[in-house]
Amino acid sequence: MIKAVIFDLDNTLIDFVKMKKLAVEAAIDAMIDNGLKMEKKKAFKLMFKLYNAYGWEYQKIFGVFLKEATGKVDYKILAAGIVGYKRIKEGLIYPYPGTIDTLTKLKKNYKLAIVSDAPRIQAWTRLVSMNMQDMFDYVITFNDTHVKKPGLAPYKLALKKLNVKSNETVMIGDCYKRDMAPARRLGMMTVFAKYGESKSKGKADYIINDISELLKII
Ligand SMILES: [Mg+2]
Repeated sequence: MIKAVIFDLDNTLIDFVKMKKLAVEAAIDAMIDNGLKMEKKKAFKLMFKLYNAYGWEYQKIFGVFLKEATGKVDYKILAAGIVGYKRIKEGLIYPYPGTIDTLTKLKKNYKLAIVSDAPRIQAWTRLVSMNMQDMFDYVITFNDTHVKKPGLAPYKLALKKLNVKSNETVMIGDCYKRDMAPARRLGMMTVFAKYGESKSKGKADYIINDISELLKII
């Protein structure tokens, strides 16, 4: 019998892609306002091409973008892009559609927890931004074990805090390697959040395209 549900945070509850698109759009607007001579649509396409090449969390992406787009880095334009991006990124963190409703329903019957590699303050900031701070019994972050997924320590700590056995637990996440594989090793039921846009491959007991499908599985 399932007693607890553990969630990954980024790209499982938080719609990072939506946030990224809005933030990049704001950055491009700001750079164009400050002298970037490029069509907005073209700039948008180039930014995402670079994100795909350098990784979604690459911090120096705007400098690479300007070099690629104009052949040099104009620091006024670069700064405008960074400021435009940060304003949106910090203000707009969206959960995937149906997330709050699904969590509210699950909370009536199950203990809920998060296991995230994010630092504690960032995890909580994101939860508060989405008004989800009271949804979870435990929020396990990198600060708790200093072990990143797919290490087993954060999962074991979650089981201990929740006071449940692994076979009474469901793990849902958007990465096979970090979320599904360790949960399977411990004997949890696993649900892969395909909507999270992760390109990883592996095994899970269930694959869902919408978070509300969880309600049908458990
Ligand atoms: Mg994730």
